[in-house]
Amino acid sequence: MDNTPSEIKPKPESTMLTHCDVLVIGGGPAGSTCATLLAEKGFDVIMLEKEEHPRFHIGESLLPANMPLLERLGVAEEIKKIGMLKLGIEFNSPDHDHVSQIEFSESWNKELSWAYQVRRSEFDEILFRNAASKGVQTLENCRVRDIEMDDNHAAPIRIRAEIPIGQTKSFEAKFIVDASGRDTFLANKYKTKQKDKKHSSSAIFGHFDHATRLPGDKEGYISIFWFEHGWFWFIPLADGTTSVGAVCWPYYLHSRKKPLDDFLWDTINLSPQLAERMTHAELVSETYATGNYSYSSTISHGERFIMIGDAYAFVDPVFSSGVMLAMNSAFKGAEVVEAVLKEPAQAPVRLKEFQHVITHGPKEFSWFIHRVTNPMIRELFMHPRNVLKTKESILSVLSGDIFDNPKIWPSLYAFKVIYYLSSLMNLKRTWAAMKRRAQNIRDVDSAVQ
Ligand SMILES: Cc1cc2nc3c(=O)[nH]c(=O)nc-3n(C[C@H](O)[C@H](O)[C@H](O)COP(=O)(O)OP(=O)(O)OC[C@H]3O[C@@H](n4cnc5c(N)ncnc54)[C@H](O)[C@@H]3O)c2cc1C
Repeated sequence: MDNTPSEIKPKPESTMLTHCDVLVIGGGPAGSTCATLLAEKGFDVIMLEKEEHPRFHIGESLLPANMPLLERLGVAEEIKKIGMLKLGIEFNSPDHDHVSQIEFSESWNKELSWAYQVRRSEFDEILFRNAASKGVQTLENCRVRDIEMDDNHAAPIRIRAEIPIGQTKSFEAKFIVDASGRDTFLANKYKTKQKDKKHSSSAIFGHFDHATRLPGDKEGYISIFWFEHGWFWFIPLADGTTSVGAVCWPYYLHSRKKPLDDFLWDTINLSPQLAERMTHAELVSETYATGNYSYSSTISHGERFIMIGDAYAFVDPVFSSGVMLAMNSAFKGAEVVEAVLKEPAQAPVRLKEFQHVITHGPKEFSWFIHRVTNPMIRELFMHPRNVLKTKESILSVLSGDIFDNPKIWPSLYAFKVIYYLSSLMNLKRTWAAMKRRAQNIRDVDSAVQ
């Protein structure tokens, strides 16, 4: 006889199949954006989210290029209410006795001059509920477990998802949008996920009260502090809390012998400039640690699926590019899905554009990310000069204005040439930095094996 109490007995699989045109895996910024746009285009869309909003997520600093996307989704006013106005970036280096502050208004496109810092639990919930209000069927606490997709398109795509207490739900869809973030659902299924061999990092972070912010209009700036093991972010949120985190080479996090909270404080104290801003600060959240190895998938789409946002690629967060890239890929993704389902003749063109967009962002940011701890890049950021409009073009990259602004590229190439020439002129320092970087990457590889 089965004595298992009935409330914890696994329930049988529901035999009911729910049908839709498009099923979106994951209700973060990428998923909610794509689902909303597709519902607006008249598709029957289901979005499944394994957690329940509001839920914690890291990635709180937005870029100016996010703002038109929020406007287009119809959530700009709501985000304004929870956002801290971000007008610029401050760089702090242990090798310089001055700080470098730059404003987005100095970038090429003067309209992209501001952004917000946001608490992601609030931001993501607004986007998710907005999708529901535009007609998307949203389900929370519903984790996609399995997808069956035959190659000859004879049958609809079959999706099995798990809901609480071991129950499952089944769906049929014509198209899948994978927006599962760093869970990379389809890239795992198809084994197409590739680690970035040139870059690797881990992060430790928390939320603090009473951190000292910049005065006046600069209060909402993101501050970056370089230190010997990587760099810190200092992100002021609207409710007075400040998000502080260190992104470091994985060997540094592996060296931890103390509880996470103590280790975070010890790490903060390795940067005297940051420590000063944290003199009165008090940790008010748990301390989080994450390995955030950069990766991308070798494919971004198939005939009946696309991958968007972090489900396709993740790059180091130093330039706060993640949410903007995720939402931007969702906009292009929605065009692809529309073409595939409504105008198949348009699909190849749209897929080509999608492929360009989804690889272009990570590629452009990666050039800087691979060099961000290099003393030469640090030098150029600490003394930004507008020779050949290089400062304007760098600021355009830092604003996320890298998709529709052809004017920035000649100056950006000029910046890269200046970087390579400066590196050659300071060969000893360049060589030392390259050796250190190569050693760090070897350490990561041996730790992974
Ligand atoms: C340390 C760190 C700092 C960062 N800082 C910044 C920053 O300052 N600014 C910035 O723009 N970006 C930052 N990022 C990057 C940013 O967090 C991501 O790029 C962004 O959240 C990507 O959005 P997304 O919608 O693709 O994925 P996510 O926001 O991760 O959303 C994916 C969603 O899918 C759900 N999900 C996953 N698997 C399943 C499943 N099987 N079934 C159902 N649901 C599922 C998850 O619960 C999640 O809600 C940072 C990242 C890290 C690691």
